[in-house]
Amino acid sequence: MAAKRDYYEILEVSKSASAEEIKKAYRKKAIQYHPDKNPGDHTAEEKFKEAAEAYEVLSDQNKRARYDQFGHAGVGGAAGGGFGGGGMSMEDIFSQFGDIFGGHFGGFGGFGGFGRTGRRTNRGSDLRVKVKLNLKEILNGVEKKIKVKKYVACSPCNGNGSENGNSVANCSTCNGSGMVTRVANTILGQMQTTTTCPTCNGEGKTITKKCAHCNGDGIVHDEEVISIKIPAGVEEGMQLSMSGKGSAARRGGINGDLLILVEEEEDPDLIRDHNDVIYNLFISFPTAALGGTVEVPTIEGVAKVKIDPGTQPGKVLRLRNKGLPTINGYGTGDELINVNVYIPENLSDTEKKKIEEMHKSANFTPSKSAKKNVFTKFKKMFD
Ligand SMILES: [Zn+2]
Ligand SMILES: [Zn+2]
Repeated sequence: MAAKRDYYEILEVSKSASAEEIKKAYRKKAIQYHPDKNPGDHTAEEKFKEAAEAYEVLSDQNKRARYDQFGHAGVGGAAGGGFGGGGMSMEDIFSQFGDIFGGHFGGFGGFGGFGRTGRRTNRGSDLRVKVKLNLKEILNGVEKKIKVKKYVACSPCNGNGSENGNSVANCSTCNGSGMVTRVANTILGQMQTTTTCPTCNGEGKTITKKCAHCNGDGIVHDEEVISIKIPAGVEEGMQLSMSGKGSAARRGGINGDLLILVEEEEDPDLIRDHNDVIYNLFISFPTAALGGTVEVPTIEGVAKVKIDPGTQPGKVLRLRNKGLPTINGYGTGDELINVNVYIPENLSDTEKKKIEEMHKSANFTPSKSAKKNVFTKFKKMFD
């Protein structure tokens, strides 16, 4: 497979280009290389497709982030099995981005508004699945195999709905073009309009004998196990998409997409806060007073943490880079340890006596600096 060009380079925009700039750049390229403007020019057609593919990725915030992080592999281009991208047909381009041409095409001297008229292609429906991920899977990224119920192309007829796949004829109304042309008199003079053929619904073909297996639909209900690659750093509510992995279309159209909704499994110990994770640590009063070493859970295991003598409740310790990566790969969060001191709730008589003795010492009265710390911290919280 030939190496792919950089998407930003294709659209001639900078890496920091805004969504509006990208849209503008794509529109410019699409007009320049439009097939109606360059009939029979295969280089122009390739460039037209290339620009559409670049736009498909860069116009989607999630896809763009993955592309920025992983390059073409991140959006499924060369590597396959990834998300989006990768070999769009002309039909895909027109059905997905037809509206970007808006006022530029159609009308007088325009390009006839492709994608609106012309041979219509069916599109299969999108499928939605949920994947539940734990923090470890989010940390490293994961590949999930999911069984999906969907429509697939009928095999006896090869998806075209006719018996043995070859009982078709050109539509007699439109002679197989899928379009009918009418001439109408208007105040601007005679105008020619082209619309979708009503007989064949734009398909250009009619079935002479239906496939018995799918009753002429070209699709049958089935299930497929799909392998979904989830990049590291995803968050609850994020949606990923795999183009073409949805249901097949009736009579050989374009497949729908598979949309994957990310759900997060609640961790028994750690609370996620964007890219950080928070752990509420309880230490005993003696450990807080004398210092020591404690074990705290992390996403992937445990870490040993040193407690200084005289540690106050509410102190926050930080384990650098023990959080989660950002989805675009810029940095990793931390684990924050919120220190609580456990005050015993049940005491024996001996213990009570010992504590009463401690009480007599001036060291058990809060110091000025400890008070000041708590004051400052609370003030910050309510500012
Ligand atoms: Zn027709
Ligand atoms: Zn069939």
